Amino acid sequence: MSKKILILPGDGIGPEIVAEAVKVLTCLRDEFGLDVDMNEALVGGSAYDEHGHPLPEETLRLAHDCDAVLLGAVGGPKWEPLDISVRPEKGLLGLRSELGLFANLRPAILYPQLADASTLKPEVVSGLDILIVRELTGGIYFGRPRGVETLASGERRGINTLVYTESEIERICRVAFDLAMKRGKRVCSVDKANVLECTELWREVAIRVGADYPEVELSHMYVDNAAMQLVRAPKQFDVMVTTNMFGDVLSDCAAMLTGSIGMLPSASLDADGKGMYEPIHGSAPDIAGKGVANPLATILSVAMMLRYSLNAPAHAERIERAVSSVLDQGLRTADIASEGTETIGTTRMGDAVVAAMRD
Ligand code: NAD
Repeated sequence: MSKKILILPGDGIGPEIVAEAVKVLTCLRDEFGLDVDMNEALVGGSAYDEHGHPLPEETLRLAHDCDAVLLGAVGGPKWEPLDISVRPEKGLLGLRSELGLFANLRPAILYPQLADASTLKPEVVSGLDILIVRELTGGIYFGRPRGVETLASGERRGINTLVYTESEIERICRVAFDLAMKRGKRVCSVDKANVLECTELWREVAIRVGADYPEVELSHMYVDNAAMQLVRAPKQFDVMVTTNMFGDVLSDCAAMLTGSIGMLPSASLDADGKGMYEPIHGSAPDIAGKGVANPLATILSVAMMLRYSLNAPAHAERIERAVSSVLDQGLRTADIASEGTETIGTTRMGDAVVAAMRD
Protein backbone atom coordinates (compact mmCIF):
# COMPACT_ATOMS: atom_id res chain seq x y z
CA MET A 1 0.00 0.00 0.00
CA SER A 2 1.20 3.52 -0.77
CA LYS A 3 2.73 5.45 2.11
CA LYS A 4 1.00 8.75 2.78
CA ILE A 5 3.07 11.92 3.11
CA LEU A 6 1.53 15.16 4.33
CA ILE A 7 3.26 18.23 2.89
CA LEU A 8 3.05 21.40 5.03
CA PRO A 9 4.91 24.24 3.28
CA GLY A 10 4.13 26.82 6.01
CA ASP A 11 5.30 30.42 5.80
CA GLY A 12 8.15 32.62 4.50
CA ILE A 13 10.63 30.55 2.48
CA GLY A 14 8.69 27.39 3.47
CA PRO A 15 6.74 27.07 0.19
CA GLU A 16 9.88 27.77 -1.91
CA ILE A 17 12.07 25.12 -0.28
CA VAL A 18 9.30 22.55 0.09
CA ALA A 19 8.55 22.83 -3.66
CA GLU A 20 12.11 21.61 -4.33
CA ALA A 21 11.75 18.73 -1.86
CA VAL A 22 8.49 17.75 -3.57
CA LYS A 23 10.38 17.66 -6.91
CA VAL A 24 12.77 15.16 -5.34
CA LEU A 25 9.92 13.01 -4.00
CA THR A 26 8.10 13.17 -7.34
CA CYS A 27 11.25 12.03 -9.15
CA LEU A 28 11.63 9.08 -6.74
CA ARG A 29 7.97 8.19 -7.22
CA ASP A 30 7.80 8.53 -11.01
CA GLU A 31 11.25 7.27 -11.97
CA PHE A 32 12.50 5.03 -9.16
CA GLY A 33 9.37 3.24 -7.95
CA LEU A 34 8.84 4.91 -4.54
CA ASP A 35 5.23 4.14 -3.64
CA VAL A 36 3.94 7.35 -2.01
CA ASP A 37 0.86 9.57 -2.04
CA MET A 38 1.31 13.26 -1.26
CA ASN A 39 -1.29 15.57 0.26
CA GLU A 40 -0.78 19.25 1.03
CA ALA A 41 -2.27 21.38 3.83
CA LEU A 42 -1.83 24.68 5.63
CA VAL A 43 -0.02 25.29 8.91
CA GLY A 44 1.32 28.34 10.77
CA GLY A 45 0.63 31.92 9.70
CA SER A 46 -0.79 30.94 6.31
CA ALA A 47 -3.28 28.65 8.07
CA TYR A 48 -4.20 31.46 10.47
CA ASP A 49 -4.87 33.80 7.54
CA GLU A 50 -7.15 31.25 5.88
CA HIS A 51 -8.83 29.54 8.86
CA GLY A 52 -8.14 31.75 11.90
CA HIS A 53 -5.97 29.05 13.52
CA PRO A 54 -2.34 27.95 12.95
CA LEU A 55 -3.31 24.26 13.18
CA PRO A 56 -6.70 23.82 11.46
CA GLU A 57 -8.69 20.67 12.20
CA GLU A 58 -8.32 19.43 8.64
CA THR A 59 -4.51 19.70 8.84
CA LEU A 60 -4.49 17.81 12.12
CA ARG A 61 -6.76 15.11 10.68
CA LEU A 62 -4.46 14.65 7.69
CA ALA A 63 -1.43 14.60 10.01
CA HIS A 64 -2.97 11.79 12.09
CA ASP A 65 -3.85 9.91 8.92
CA CYS A 66 -0.41 9.93 7.23
CA ASP A 67 2.84 8.00 7.66
CA ALA A 68 5.09 11.07 7.67
CA VAL A 69 4.88 14.86 7.59
CA LEU A 70 7.23 17.16 5.67
CA LEU A 71 7.19 20.70 7.04
CA GLY A 72 8.90 23.82 5.63
CA ALA A 73 8.88 26.48 8.35
CA VAL A 74 6.39 28.68 10.14
CA GLY A 75 6.29 32.24 11.42
CA GLY A 76 7.14 35.75 10.38
CA PRO A 77 6.81 39.39 11.46
CA LYS A 78 3.28 39.60 10.05
CA TRP A 79 1.95 37.28 12.77
CA GLU A 80 4.09 38.49 15.70
CA PRO A 81 1.40 40.83 17.09
CA LEU A 82 -1.09 37.92 17.38
CA ASP A 83 -2.07 36.47 20.73
CA ILE A 84 0.35 33.70 21.71
CA SER A 85 -2.43 31.09 21.51
CA VAL A 86 -2.77 31.55 17.72
CA ARG A 87 0.79 32.42 16.74
CA PRO A 88 2.27 30.28 13.92
CA GLU A 89 4.62 28.44 16.33
CA LYS A 90 1.53 27.05 18.12
CA GLY A 91 0.82 25.09 14.93
CA LEU A 92 4.21 23.42 15.16
CA LEU A 93 4.03 22.73 18.90
CA GLY A 94 0.46 21.46 18.48
CA LEU A 95 1.57 18.97 15.81
CA ARG A 96 4.45 17.73 17.98
CA SER A 97 2.27 17.14 21.01
CA GLU A 98 -0.83 15.85 19.13
CA LEU A 99 1.28 13.32 17.25
CA GLY A 100 3.31 12.35 20.34
CA LEU A 101 6.62 13.17 18.62
CA PHE A 102 8.86 12.70 21.65
CA ALA A 103 12.20 12.04 19.91
CA ASN A 104 13.90 14.86 18.08
CA LEU A 105 16.82 13.77 15.91
CA ARG A 106 19.19 16.52 14.88
CA PRO A 107 22.18 15.41 12.85
CA ALA A 108 25.07 17.85 12.52
CA ILE A 109 26.94 16.81 9.42
CA LEU A 110 29.61 18.88 7.75
CA TYR A 111 30.12 17.98 4.13
CA PRO A 112 33.88 18.15 3.47
CA GLN A 113 33.10 20.45 0.50
CA LEU A 114 31.74 23.03 2.98
CA ALA A 115 34.46 22.89 5.65
CA ASP A 116 35.19 26.58 5.02
CA ALA A 117 31.61 27.55 6.00
CA SER A 118 32.29 26.85 9.69
CA THR A 119 33.69 29.48 12.01
CA LEU A 120 35.81 26.71 13.55
CA LYS A 121 39.09 25.50 12.07
CA PRO A 122 38.51 23.04 9.19
CA GLU A 123 40.52 20.30 10.96
CA VAL A 124 38.20 20.54 14.00
CA VAL A 125 34.99 20.12 12.02
CA SER A 126 35.75 18.62 8.60
CA GLY A 127 33.87 15.33 8.23
CA LEU A 128 31.82 16.01 11.39
CA ASP A 129 28.90 13.57 11.71
CA ILE A 130 27.11 13.64 15.06
CA LEU A 131 23.50 13.00 15.98
CA ILE A 132 21.79 14.76 18.86
CA VAL A 133 18.73 12.96 20.21
CA ARG A 134 16.63 15.46 22.18
CA GLU A 135 13.60 14.55 24.29
CA LEU A 136 10.82 16.72 22.85
CA THR A 137 7.57 16.38 24.77
CA GLY A 138 8.63 16.45 28.43
CA GLY A 139 11.02 18.13 30.84
CA ILE A 140 11.01 21.73 31.93
CA TYR A 141 9.18 22.99 28.83
CA PHE A 142 6.06 21.11 29.89
CA GLY A 143 6.45 20.48 33.65
CA ARG A 144 3.95 21.81 36.16
CA PRO A 145 3.64 23.94 38.20
CA ARG A 146 4.58 26.75 35.86
CA GLY A 147 3.81 30.43 35.52
CA VAL A 148 4.45 33.74 37.19
CA GLU A 149 2.81 34.37 40.57
CA THR A 150 2.66 37.38 42.85
CA LEU A 151 3.81 36.83 46.42
CA ALA A 152 2.20 38.42 49.48
CA SER A 153 5.05 40.96 49.47
CA GLY A 154 3.98 42.07 45.98
CA GLU A 155 7.14 40.65 44.41
CA ARG A 156 6.60 38.34 41.43
CA ARG A 157 8.08 34.85 41.18
CA GLY A 158 8.53 32.83 37.96
CA ILE A 159 8.28 29.04 38.13
CA ASN A 160 9.06 26.17 35.77
CA THR A 161 9.43 22.57 36.76
CA LEU A 162 11.89 19.98 35.46
CA VAL A 163 10.12 16.64 35.56
CA TYR A 164 10.75 13.27 33.90
CA THR A 165 9.27 9.87 34.58
CA GLU A 166 11.41 6.74 34.23
CA SER A 167 9.39 5.64 31.19
CA GLU A 168 9.92 8.97 29.43
CA ILE A 169 13.67 8.70 29.99
CA GLU A 170 13.75 5.06 29.00
CA ARG A 171 11.99 5.52 25.64
CA ILE A 172 14.24 8.39 24.50
CA CYS A 173 17.36 6.48 25.61
CA ARG A 174 16.20 3.45 23.61
CA VAL A 175 15.84 5.61 20.50
CA ALA A 176 19.42 6.83 21.02
CA PHE A 177 20.85 3.35 21.57
CA ASP A 178 18.97 1.90 18.57
CA LEU A 179 20.36 4.67 16.38
CA ALA A 180 23.88 4.23 17.77
CA MET A 181 23.72 0.56 16.78
CA LYS A 182 23.34 1.70 13.15
CA ARG A 183 26.16 4.27 13.44
CA GLY A 184 29.34 4.43 15.52
CA LYS A 185 27.98 2.46 18.52
CA ARG A 186 28.69 5.24 21.02
CA VAL A 187 26.15 7.12 23.15
CA CYS A 188 26.94 10.12 25.34
CA SER A 189 24.14 10.86 27.78
CA VAL A 190 24.16 14.53 28.80
CA ASP A 191 22.78 15.54 32.19
CA LYS A 192 23.42 17.76 35.20
CA ALA A 193 23.33 14.90 37.69
CA ASN A 194 25.60 16.71 40.13
CA VAL A 195 22.93 19.36 40.77
CA LEU A 196 19.54 18.15 39.52
CA GLU A 197 17.92 15.07 41.07
CA CYS A 198 15.75 14.69 37.99
CA THR A 199 18.80 14.17 35.81
CA GLU A 200 20.38 11.91 38.46
CA LEU A 201 17.42 9.67 37.65
CA TRP A 202 18.07 10.30 33.94
CA ARG A 203 21.63 8.95 34.34
CA GLU A 204 20.45 5.91 36.32
CA VAL A 205 17.89 5.01 33.63
CA ALA A 206 20.41 5.59 30.81
CA ILE A 207 22.75 3.08 32.48
CA ARG A 208 19.88 0.59 32.88
CA VAL A 209 18.86 0.88 29.22
CA GLY A 210 22.51 0.71 28.15
CA ALA A 211 22.79 -2.73 29.74
CA ASP A 212 20.52 -4.01 26.93
CA TYR A 213 23.02 -2.76 24.34
CA PRO A 214 26.35 -4.37 25.29
CA GLU A 215 27.88 -3.39 21.94
CA VAL A 216 27.27 0.32 22.54
CA GLU A 217 29.76 2.30 24.62
CA LEU A 218 27.86 4.59 27.01
CA SER A 219 29.45 7.69 28.50
CA HIS A 220 28.00 10.52 30.60
CA MET A 221 28.77 14.22 30.50
CA TYR A 222 27.51 17.21 32.43
CA VAL A 223 25.80 19.68 30.12
CA ASP A 224 28.25 22.51 30.77
CA ASN A 225 31.18 20.29 29.82
CA ALA A 226 29.24 18.95 26.81
CA ALA A 227 28.78 22.50 25.49
CA MET A 228 32.51 23.09 25.89
CA GLN A 229 33.48 19.78 24.28
CA LEU A 230 31.16 20.37 21.32
CA VAL A 231 33.16 23.45 20.44
CA ARG A 232 36.59 22.08 21.47
CA ALA A 233 36.54 18.62 19.85
CA PRO A 234 33.11 17.82 18.37
CA LYS A 235 34.27 14.75 16.45
CA GLN A 236 34.62 12.83 19.76
CA PHE A 237 30.82 12.37 19.73
CA ASP A 238 28.67 9.88 17.83
CA VAL A 239 25.15 10.00 19.37
CA MET A 240 24.29 12.41 22.21
CA VAL A 241 21.03 11.93 24.12
CA THR A 242 19.62 14.54 26.44
CA THR A 243 16.65 16.38 27.93
CA ASN A 244 14.39 18.79 26.10
CA MET A 245 16.05 22.00 27.26
CA PHE A 246 19.67 20.79 27.17
CA GLY A 247 18.99 19.35 23.71
CA ASP A 248 17.50 22.61 22.51
CA VAL A 249 20.67 24.49 23.37
CA LEU A 250 23.23 21.83 22.40
CA SER A 251 21.63 21.06 19.05
CA ASP A 252 21.75 24.71 17.99
CA CYS A 253 25.36 24.85 19.08
CA ALA A 254 26.13 21.66 17.09
CA ALA A 255 24.27 23.03 14.07
CA MET A 256 26.42 26.11 14.00
CA LEU A 257 29.60 24.01 14.04
CA THR A 258 28.73 23.33 10.43
CA GLY A 259 28.20 27.03 9.74
CA SER A 260 25.42 26.36 7.27
CA ILE A 261 21.93 26.56 8.72
CA GLY A 262 20.49 25.89 5.25
CA MET A 263 22.00 22.39 5.16
CA LEU A 264 20.67 20.71 8.31
CA PRO A 265 17.59 18.47 8.43
CA SER A 266 15.73 17.14 11.46
CA ALA A 267 13.23 14.47 12.40
CA SER A 268 10.73 14.23 15.25
CA LEU A 269 9.48 10.68 15.83
CA ASP A 270 6.73 8.96 17.77
CA ALA A 271 6.96 5.52 19.40
CA ASP A 272 6.08 3.72 16.14
CA GLY A 273 8.48 5.55 13.82
CA LYS A 274 5.94 7.98 12.41
CA GLY A 275 7.62 11.32 12.08
CA MET A 276 7.62 14.96 11.16
CA TYR A 277 10.60 16.09 9.08
CA GLU A 278 11.76 19.66 8.72
CA PRO A 279 14.84 21.80 8.17
CA ILE A 280 16.24 23.19 11.41
CA HIS A 281 16.08 26.76 10.15
CA GLY A 282 13.06 29.06 10.34
CA SER A 283 10.99 30.84 7.72
CA ALA A 284 13.75 33.38 6.89
CA PRO A 285 11.40 36.32 6.19
CA ASP A 286 14.42 38.43 5.15
CA ILE A 287 14.89 36.36 1.99
CA ALA A 288 11.35 35.01 1.44
CA GLY A 289 10.09 35.40 -2.14
CA LYS A 290 13.55 36.16 -3.54
CA GLY A 291 14.27 32.67 -4.84
CA VAL A 292 17.62 32.47 -3.04
CA ALA A 293 16.86 30.17 -0.09
CA ASN A 294 18.85 26.96 0.23
CA PRO A 295 16.49 23.99 -0.21
CA LEU A 296 19.07 21.34 0.75
CA ALA A 297 18.08 21.07 4.45
CA THR A 298 14.52 20.32 3.35
CA ILE A 299 15.67 17.89 0.67
CA LEU A 300 17.87 16.15 3.25
CA SER A 301 14.84 16.04 5.58
CA VAL A 302 13.14 13.95 2.88
CA ALA A 303 16.13 11.57 3.02
CA MET A 304 15.66 11.26 6.80
CA MET A 305 11.94 10.59 6.25
CA LEU A 306 12.71 7.80 3.81
CA ARG A 307 15.14 6.24 6.24
CA TYR A 308 13.25 6.56 9.54
CA SER A 309 9.53 6.49 8.65
CA LEU A 310 9.21 4.95 5.18
CA ASN A 311 11.85 2.22 5.50
CA ALA A 312 13.38 3.14 2.16
CA PRO A 313 17.10 3.58 2.90
CA ALA A 314 18.19 3.07 -0.72
CA HIS A 315 16.08 6.06 -1.81
CA ALA A 316 17.53 8.08 1.11
CA GLU A 317 21.03 7.26 -0.05
CA ARG A 318 20.19 8.31 -3.61
CA ILE A 319 19.22 11.76 -2.31
CA GLU A 320 22.27 12.09 -0.07
CA ARG A 321 24.63 11.04 -2.88
CA ALA A 322 22.95 13.55 -5.20
CA VAL A 323 23.40 16.40 -2.69
CA SER A 324 27.07 15.53 -2.30
CA SER A 325 27.48 15.37 -6.07
CA VAL A 326 25.88 18.81 -6.52
CA LEU A 327 28.33 20.23 -3.97
CA ASP A 328 31.18 18.49 -5.82
CA GLN A 329 30.03 20.28 -8.98
CA GLY A 330 30.67 23.57 -7.16
CA LEU A 331 27.01 24.61 -7.11
CA ARG A 332 26.03 26.67 -4.06
CA THR A 333 23.14 28.82 -2.87
CA ALA A 334 24.23 32.21 -1.53
CA ASP A 335 24.33 31.10 2.14
CA ILE A 336 27.04 28.50 1.45
CA ALA A 337 28.84 30.19 -1.44
CA SER A 338 32.59 30.63 -1.32
CA GLU A 339 35.36 31.58 -3.74
CA GLY A 340 35.46 29.49 -6.86
CA THR A 341 31.87 28.20 -6.58
CA GLU A 342 28.84 29.06 -8.71
CA THR A 343 25.98 30.78 -6.87
CA ILE A 344 22.54 29.55 -7.92
CA GLY A 345 18.97 30.07 -6.67
CA THR A 346 16.48 27.78 -4.95
CA THR A 347 14.89 26.31 -8.09
CA ARG A 348 18.16 25.59 -9.84
CA MET A 349 19.50 23.88 -6.74
CA GLY A 350 16.42 21.63 -6.61
CA ASP A 351 16.78 20.87 -10.32
CA ALA A 352 20.49 20.08 -9.89
CA VAL A 353 19.72 17.57 -7.12
CA VAL A 354 17.05 15.88 -9.24
CA ALA A 355 19.47 15.70 -12.20
CA ALA A 356 22.18 14.19 -9.97
CA MET A 357 19.69 11.59 -8.67
CA ARG A 358 19.36 10.31 -12.22
CA ASP A 359 23.14 9.87 -12.68
P1 NAD B 1 15.73 31.77 10.51
O1 NAD B 1 16.31 30.42 10.62
O2 NAD B 1 14.46 31.89 9.75
O3 NAD B 1 16.79 32.76 9.80
C1 NAD B 1 18.07 33.03 10.37
C2 NAD B 1 19.03 33.51 9.23
O4 NAD B 1 19.37 32.39 8.42
C3 NAD B 1 18.39 34.53 8.31
O5 NAD B 1 19.39 35.44 7.90
C4 NAD B 1 17.94 33.71 7.11
O6 NAD B 1 17.91 34.43 5.89
C5 NAD B 1 18.98 32.60 7.08
N1 NAD B 1 18.41 31.34 6.56
C6 NAD B 1 17.55 30.52 7.19
N2 NAD B 1 17.23 29.49 6.40
C7 NAD B 1 17.89 29.67 5.25
C8 NAD B 1 17.95 28.93 4.03
N3 NAD B 1 17.27 27.79 3.82
N4 NAD B 1 18.74 29.41 3.03
C9 NAD B 1 19.44 30.55 3.19
N5 NAD B 1 19.43 31.27 4.32
C10 NAD B 1 18.65 30.84 5.33
O7 NAD B 1 15.57 32.33 11.98
P2 NAD B 1 14.91 33.69 12.52
O8 NAD B 1 15.25 34.81 11.59
O9 NAD B 1 15.30 33.77 13.94
O10 NAD B 1 13.34 33.44 12.47
C11 NAD B 1 12.50 33.85 11.42
C12 NAD B 1 11.10 33.30 11.66
O11 NAD B 1 11.14 31.87 11.62
C13 NAD B 1 10.52 33.67 13.01
O12 NAD B 1 9.16 33.96 12.85
C14 NAD B 1 10.72 32.42 13.86
O13 NAD B 1 9.75 32.31 14.87
C15 NAD B 1 10.53 31.35 12.81
N6 NAD B 1 11.16 30.06 13.13
C16 NAD B 1 10.49 28.96 12.73
C17 NAD B 1 11.06 27.71 12.92
C18 NAD B 1 10.32 26.51 12.43
O14 NAD B 1 9.35 26.65 11.69
N7 NAD B 1 10.73 25.30 12.79
C19 NAD B 1 12.31 27.59 13.52
C20 NAD B 1 12.99 28.76 13.89
C21 NAD B 1 12.41 30.01 13.68
